This record gives sequence, structure tokens and C-alpha cells, in this order.
Amino acid sequence: MKFLYKILIWTIITMATAFGISGYYFVNHVFETALDRAVEQAVDDSNILRFALETAALNIPTKYNVLQDNAVHEIGANLERSSQGSGRLLRVSDENRKLLYAGEGFTDDRSVLENITKDNVTWQVLNQGESYYIHTGVMANAMDRNLYLETMEDVTQVFEERATGFSVYRKVTLVMLLCSAAILFFVCMLLTKPIRLLTGATRRMAAGDYGYRAKQVSSDELGQLTQDFNHMANVLEDTIGELRDEVRAREDFIAAFAHELKTPLTAIIGYADLLRSRKLDGEKQFLSSNYIYTEGKRLENLSFRLLDIIVTKREQISPQPVEAGVFFQYLTEVFAGNTQQELKTVYDPGTVYAEEDLIKSVLANLVDNAFKASGQGGIVEVSGRNTERGYVFEVKDFGVGIPENELKKVTEAFYMVDKSRSRSRNGAGLGLALCVELLRLHNSELLIESTLGEGTCIRFVLPEKQAVKGKRDHEDR
Ligand code: ATP
Ligand code: MG
Repeated sequence: MKFLYKILIWTIITMATAFGISGYYFVNHVFETALDRAVEQAVDDSNILRFALETAALNIPTKYNVLQDNAVHEIGANLERSSQGSGRLLRVSDENRKLLYAGEGFTDDRSVLENITKDNVTWQVLNQGESYYIHTGVMANAMDRNLYLETMEDVTQVFEERATGFSVYRKVTLVMLLCSAAILFFVCMLLTKPIRLLTGATRRMAAGDYGYRAKQVSSDELGQLTQDFNHMANVLEDTIGELRDEVRAREDFIAAFAHELKTPLTAIIGYADLLRSRKLDGEKQFLSSNYIYTEGKRLENLSFRLLDIIVTKREQISPQPVEAGVFFQYLTEVFAGNTQQELKTVYDPGTVYAEEDLIKSVLANLVDNAFKASGQGGIVEVSGRNTERGYVFEVKDFGVGIPENELKKVTEAFYMVDKSRSRSRNGAGLGLALCVELLRLHNSELLIESTLGEGTCIRFVLPEKQAVKGKRDHEDR
């Protein structure tokens, strides 16, 4: 059942119960007051009649000074007749409670008669068919005879008024409940609107419309809930967006990887087939096997790079204090075989917190790129400076440069500005992607500046103190 109807039904039930109970007590109170008044009246009347009976007895001529039964009968009849307008009935009994006179329609009930005591008026409410009476009884002393005088006064009207009171109250309550229900319905609709809007928003979001937000229509707790829901939806949307981007990046990565494998493999298979199916002369045989060798090497290089990237994505690092000079000596040694181009190193002495092999790999990649971008006789400058932010490494070349619109893309896996040129130099487009991952582990990043045709400058900063993530705590212990 809808929340709206639940509130409505429970409120109406509560109101109906409250109206019912209060109405019952109100009508009953009015009735009881009226009945008390009628009883009081009947008791007064009973006393007056007793007095009238005693007086009438004194005025009747008596034989032997004794009040005869038939005289009592006559007095009773006279008294009843004199008060006929009020509809009152009389019954008179002698000292043995033997009936002397009874008005027509007087009850046969003797409980009041049996309970009459001297000086007190006894009474009870009597129900006969649809009529109600107050039945009173009193003892009268007429000429030394103790007589029992009873009256029956009609109070049906008091009971009818109670029934009318209940009926009117029931109708008024019903009308009031109907009106209240109508008003309540609109109030509940208004109050539950935020819930309906939230439900709608949830459904739309569940159907894939992640950008949809619930409209906030109140500033109470439900308004707060809407606000919190929208905030949650924002966070979820961002997370979903990130996950989508990640999935897309992975798909791109796999597609590029498959492509990178396909090209050298096709060539290798082609040349290998040529070698086994025909007898080639010395030069052609050399060229074919050389091609197989170089493409094989490229594949090996590719697989190592991929392995590096995968491993760095999974593992934490163990930074150690390393003398900056170590990196520059390493570069000089690695690129010593390159006689065509020149590597210049300038650096401040200093200590950085890093994992030595990983940073060596970053620098080697950057210098390798710089050499690839520089022509024959090109110069590549690698420098190290102590700054406030940390130790800054910089690799600068005066080569082809990177177009501005490509600057962001060069760090993506398999991205190469000039594919044929890079491939010819065993490039796979993974070097910078790897550098980004390695520096991420050191809480650092690549800053690339480049001007097409003039050269490129790539920088990154390493902390001189223990500020990188990894197993530092463990190392300190
Ligand atoms: P790999 O490093 O996997 O052998 P790669 O050098 O082509 O191959 P990255 O190091 O990721 O791949 O570089 C991506 C691309 O960015 C390069 O193909 C090149 O086009 C461009 N690039 C990188 N460094 C420079 C640079 N110093 N000058 C000009 N272009 C550069
Ligand atoms: Mg490279």
C-alpha cells in the first residue's frame, strides 16, 4: 500500500476513534444530567402526592375511625386523575403490600414496592417496550394506616433525546471525517511529494540516466534526504565515469597491443616462410634473418615494457635515499655507445628519496626519446637542480619537438606522434606511459614543454625527504 494512503488511513482511524469516544461521553453526559433532573422531579412529585394522599384521607368521612380500602382506592383514582396531564400513573398498596389501587398500565413489577422504607423515596428506571419510566415508591401514613404509594412517570423523551443526540453526532462526525480526509489527502500529497520525486529519480537512474537528479521541494528532513541522494548520485556518476574511462583505456590498450603484435609477427612469419621455402642468396638470406631478428627484438622490448607497466601498477615501492650523482653516472654509461649524438650532464649534488632502478628507467626512457627526436650530432642535456619543491630532473633536446595538440597524448600507452619513425627505431609508444606509472609511485609527474621544430624539455621533481608513498614506515624501523 502507498505511504500516502497509510498516513491517510491511520489518521482517519485515529480521528474517528477520538471523535467517537468524545462524542459518546458528551451525549451520555447530557443524557445523565437530564435523567438526574427527571429523577429529582419524580422524587419531589412522589413526596407531594404522599402529602396529598395523607391530606385527602383526613377529609374523608370514616366509619369507626378506620380508613376503608375502597376509600383509599378512590383517593388513588382521584389523585391520578388530577395529574392526568403529566401522564403519571399511581399504585397504592396497604400495609401488607396488598394492592388497593393501580392506574391503568401500571407495571406489575414489585421490586420498588418490596424495597420501600419509611421516610425514604425508593426509585428505579423502568423499561416497558419502547417507553421508559421512573418508578418511585414512598410510605404514606393516612389515619394510622401505613400505605405504600408508587408512581410511574414517563421519561421516554429523555431516552429519545439521547438516541437523537447519538444519531446527530454520528452524522456530524461522518461529514467532518469526510472533509478532513479530503484536506488530509492534499496535505499528504504535498508532504510526500519529495518521496515521489526521489522514487522517480531512483527509477530513472536505475534505467541508466545517471545524470538525472531529484528536484528538492522542501527544506525539512525529506529535503535533506533529497540533497544527500543527489550528492550520492553525483559521486556515483563520477565513479561510473571514471570506471568507464578506465574500461575504455583498457580496451584501447588491448586494441593497440594486438595491433603492435600483429605487424611484427606478420613480417616475421613472412620472412621465415621465405627462408624455409626458397634457397636465397647470401645477401637476401642475411636481410631476411636480420629482419626477423630486429622485429623479434622489438617484440621482446615490447613485452618487457608491458611487463614493467603491469608490475608498477600492482606494486608499492621501497624508496631509499639515493645520491643524485648515481643517476647521471648511469646515464653516461648507458649512452656511452652512442657516438653519433652527445649527452651533456650538469647536476647539483643532492639526495633524493626514490627507488633507484625505477628512476634510472625513467631517465633512460626520456634520454632515449630525446636522442630519437634529435638528428645526427644532436645534443641532449640532462640536468639536476635542488629547489624548494625538491630535486628537479630535466631532460632537454633540440630535436623535432612535439606538436602542442599531441602533448597530452604522448603519455598514453602505444601513442606515437610519428608512428613510422618510432617503429623504425624499435619504438612501441610505451616509454612515456611507463615513466608516468613509475613517477606516480613516487608521487611525482612528468611536465612536458615542447616547441615544434625547436626541441623538448621534460621535467619531474623528486622529494629530498621521505615524502613518497611506499614501504617507508617499514624501511624506517
Ligand atoms: P618506446 O619508448 O616504447 O620505445 P616511443 O619512444 O615511441 O617507444 P614513448 O617514449 O612513449 O614511445 O613516446 C611516445 C611518443 O612521443 C614518441 O613516439 C614520440 O613521437 C613522442 N616523443 C617522446 N619524446 C619526445 C621528444 N623528446 N621529442 C619529440 N617527440 C617525443
Ligand atoms: Mg620512448
